[in-house]
Amino acid sequence: MLLRMSTLFLRTLREDPADAEVPSHKLLVRAGYIRRVAPGIYSWLPLGKIVLENVARVVREEMDRMGAQEVLFPALLPRDFYEPTGRWTEYGDTLFRLKDRKGADYLLGPTHEEMFTDMVKGEYSSYKDYPVTLYQIQTKYRDEARPRAGILRGREFVMKDSYSFDLDDDGLKRSYEMHREAYIRIFERLGIDYKICFAMSGAMGGSASEEFLAPCPTGEDTFVACHNCGYAANAEAVVTPAPPAVTAAQPPMKVLDTPDTPTIESLVSYVNENHGLGITAADTLKNLVVKVRTPGSDEVKTVIVGVPGDREVDFKRLEAALSPGVPEIFEAEDFARHPGLVRGYIGPQVLRDLGITYLVDPRVVEGSAWVTGANEPGKHAAHVVVGRDFQPDGTIEAAEVRAGDACPRCAHPLSIDRGIEIGHIFQLGRKYADAAQLDALGPDGKPIRITMGSYGVGVSRAVAVLAEQRHDELGLVWPREVAPADVHIVGTGKENQIEVASTLAETLEARGLRVLVDDRPGVSPGVKFKDSELLGLPTVLIVGRGLANGVVELRDRVTGTKEEIPLDEAVERVLAACRA
Ligand code: ATP
Ligand code: MG
Repeated sequence: MLLRMSTLFLRTLREDPADAEVPSHKLLVRAGYIRRVAPGIYSWLPLGKIVLENVARVVREEMDRMGAQEVLFPALLPRDFYEPTGRWTEYGDTLFRLKDRKGADYLLGPTHEEMFTDMVKGEYSSYKDYPVTLYQIQTKYRDEARPRAGILRGREFVMKDSYSFDLDDDGLKRSYEMHREAYIRIFERLGIDYKICFAMSGAMGGSASEEFLAPCPTGEDTFVACHNCGYAANAEAVVTPAPPAVTAAQPPMKVLDTPDTPTIESLVSYVNENHGLGITAADTLKNLVVKVRTPGSDEVKTVIVGVPGDREVDFKRLEAALSPGVPEIFEAEDFARHPGLVRGYIGPQVLRDLGITYLVDPRVVEGSAWVTGANEPGKHAAHVVVGRDFQPDGTIEAAEVRAGDACPRCAHPLSIDRGIEIGHIFQLGRKYADAAQLDALGPDGKPIRITMGSYGVGVSRAVAVLAEQRHDELGLVWPREVAPADVHIVGTGKENQIEVASTLAETLEARGLRVLVDDRPGVSPGVKFKDSELLGLPTVLIVGRGLANGVVELRDRVTGTKEEIPLDEAVERVLAACRA
């Protein structure tokens, strides 16, 4: 492959795009890899397309290596397939729905469990056919609430999705393990720094699930890690260890005047000073009201979540815990419709009578006593005891997780970091096979219900993640496996230098390298150097002024080292650098 910048369809930009906030978005646009079409929708220019294909190639090679077989589904799908599993409605606003000319409902596939299940059901019938794993690398559509950061969170994006079909749970575990290993190889080869984290099953339903998160300050996912036992989990999946129930007798509940105590802090100091209590924020019970919408229906339920007052509710954890329900902020007009709820002074004592669902943090255990709202303006109640003064309807993992919280496995303090989800492996179980009645005929003539796994890699997202994890103040720094070319040969100055650069490029291409040559006439060396740094190819060869003395300059984009070398050694030196 030989690309010549004199004809390459490429325009680099000196300025960051106005809508870009994160480095990968800025750099991929500035370096002419992608262009925005609409929010979360991007086009790929030649260099970007090569990088995207390189990522896809690595993914494909590793999927093939583990024995998965590639197929391809349409993105445009009829509604019928998504009806038996409930996902036509469960997907809510994230699903792109459309109608054909006859008025029939269609959708643009956000993920393809139903389609794969149906395909296997159509072709296979005997236990001898199984196991099988199928995959595709295909464009997905999700009308994300917050499309963000260029191709990092698109509304149209490329995903590798695969699905395993097994006769029993042991088979599913094996398929899951094989995917886990394939993913490790994929991300190692791509040069992505990653962490494997326990994940929440979310809308999919099912049990064992892990996410591959790329640690990154701009990531939207929060994950915890324990440096003692190696436990790592997405914040949504962190399970709060519950303290033991309290059996000691508690004083009776008491209502206290607490004027002017709008915050937990002011409440704590007021009751300590004026009512002789000795509490901290962690002894108060904070109650957050939300409305929970059920996708596909008009039903809106009021739910109150109780967490210890020293913690905020983490909305992402709340969303995950209530999924497929969608929580929304309880507005002033909602309070107006619920006169029983006194804003700022809500306590759980009355919720049973009001018929409102009350879910508590796991720390709010049976027999424990709390200071909380008294359901009257300006009043709080002390010694409000779980099981005596109120009865929660269940627990919920919605409180924020904090650095220093105890590891659920070994109690060592946890650390917290941000990351971007690049892959997800998931033991689905029989949810989709049940909906489609996917059975294999067993050796005894009895049907065996198939069990499934689903596994995704964000192919286009991986391009952004690489840009995010590997760049410097000058531009992108691609690992060789995905770089648009192995070497960037920059001819600067007079005709002769550009000619020599071109000849070197042809020779290196003939020797098997992928080459980009800057052979643009009349472009200043400064501009060419800036472009070369921005584009981020791993090896750079400058054919410039030194040519008069028979030397060229070999640069390493990763380490930043520069070395003058004799022209007649250039070919071998570049080959050595690219094959190191
Ligand atoms: P997220 O939590 O980031 O929304 P998800 O859990 O919805 O992702 P999956 O359904 O597990 O994603 O999809 C598999 C993979 O596809 C993800 O691990 C991610 O790498 C990629 N992916 C998901 N949504 C997007 C998107 N909007 N843009 C780009 N890639 C995406
Ligand atoms: Mg996921």
